[in-house]
Amino acid sequence: MEERKGRRLILFPLPAVGHINPMLELAHLLYTKGFSITIIQTDFRSLNPSKYPHFTFHSLFYGFSRSDFEDIPTLLFLFNTRIVEAFRECLGKLLHDASESEEPIACLISDFWYYFTQSVADSLHLPRIALRTAGSASTLALATFPSLKDKGYLPTPGSQLNVEEVVAELPPLRVKDLPLINCKHPEKYYEVVCSSANESMASSGVIFNSIEELESPELTKLRQKFSVPIFPIGPFHKYFPSGSGSIDSLVTSDETCISWLNKQEPNSVVYVSFGSVATISESEFLEAAWGLANSEHPFLWVVRPGMISGSEWVEPLPSGFLENLGGRGHIVKWAPQQQVMAHPAVAAFWTHSGWNSTMENICEGVPMICMPFFGDQFVNTRYVSHVWKIGLELEKGSSRVEIERTIRKLLEENEGKEIRERSSNLKEKAKRCHEQGGSSYCFLEDLIAHILSLESISV
Ligand code: UDP
Repeated sequence: MEERKGRRLILFPLPAVGHINPMLELAHLLYTKGFSITIIQTDFRSLNPSKYPHFTFHSLFYGFSRSDFEDIPTLLFLFNTRIVEAFRECLGKLLHDASESEEPIACLISDFWYYFTQSVADSLHLPRIALRTAGSASTLALATFPSLKDKGYLPTPGSQLNVEEVVAELPPLRVKDLPLINCKHPEKYYEVVCSSANESMASSGVIFNSIEELESPELTKLRQKFSVPIFPIGPFHKYFPSGSGSIDSLVTSDETCISWLNKQEPNSVVYVSFGSVATISESEFLEAAWGLANSEHPFLWVVRPGMISGSEWVEPLPSGFLENLGGRGHIVKWAPQQQVMAHPAVAAFWTHSGWNSTMENICEGVPMICMPFFGDQFVNTRYVSHVWKIGLELEKGSSRVEIERTIRKLLEENEGKEIRERSSNLKEKAKRCHEQGGSSYCFLEDLIAHILSLESISV
């Protein structure tokens, strides 16, 4: 813990697990570096302040109803329109109170997708830094949307795209790897993407939970495009001892994962998790279950309640499915993923390729099977399978035969062995970035100096 810096930071996470967790990790990190932390949250997925006694919390009210959850772009649009005035009032009051205290507010750090916070911060003369909880390759793709649209790479009603074509501006991404979301109003998603990218370009800097060495060409292009300081200081979770419990997720983990893993052979288990948002159909679930069973490898599978469309939990499984596997399969509702990934029994990770999962995995050197669902997951899959070459791609909707074949390829064949070697080399690289003089270590020093140099004019 470093000496207190006498400066407070206001953090505003987007209310989703994959966004709150990295923002909390950043909060802990900056707290250990001597900053005081205030978190503004909403009634939509709120943290329990008593678990974080060293942070100050303020809550805003969205008042969402069921009808608001049409799709992700609509939700993102609502996040940016519904609480503008409440947020301005809250931030204004915090600035006013700070002006009467000994501890000025240095800046606002808000999620990349909260584009409305830039103009609010500007109106209060408070610098804003954006936190991008995904990778820089996907961010570059988002920031290129206007030119992709002009060149006909983005789908429009009635358009016929060659999805296998490599996008000239973003190799090695193909049209089908672009960070798109299947939704009712694609133009709304386009608007949210452009606003988020443009407002980040107008910010005082962007923090990435990434590593310079991992995405160096993309970061270089982003620096040219954004013209604001960019700080790849990840992986965030590796600043803390594994399983230290300093980061409390919104969901309670099933600790039987670890006792079950303790009983498995080293390097034998396929860990399966599709993150906190993705959903699958009943038939996709059954194909996955049989693919895992037929592979004859042990598996630990996270099936969130509600993850299978139309089911409460795992009712679609044939009766006796797990019992017939004789303990070879373990299904839980939520796992302590960072601990699971670091467990010596884990041999492979079948993932939806969310960015947090990808980073957590890179840090443990576990080979991946990537099955993307939406957005940046397509980009991450392409980089894992074709740039870093630390995993295999598996299309959503694959049959049990394809699933079994992919698992066997990764765990039993030569290609899998090579992937394992590359994963373990990348793990070593990732480890070095936090050491003194390492890239993330240096960018973190730069970020702290940058924050201390920011001038806010309290109202
Ligand atoms: N996670 C977890 N336990 C689970 C599943 C996921 O702790 O059973 C965590 C995982 O470690 C990661 C986050 O939830 O930090 C998911 O973020 P990611 O970006 O991978 O995917 P998203 O949920 O945003 O789609």
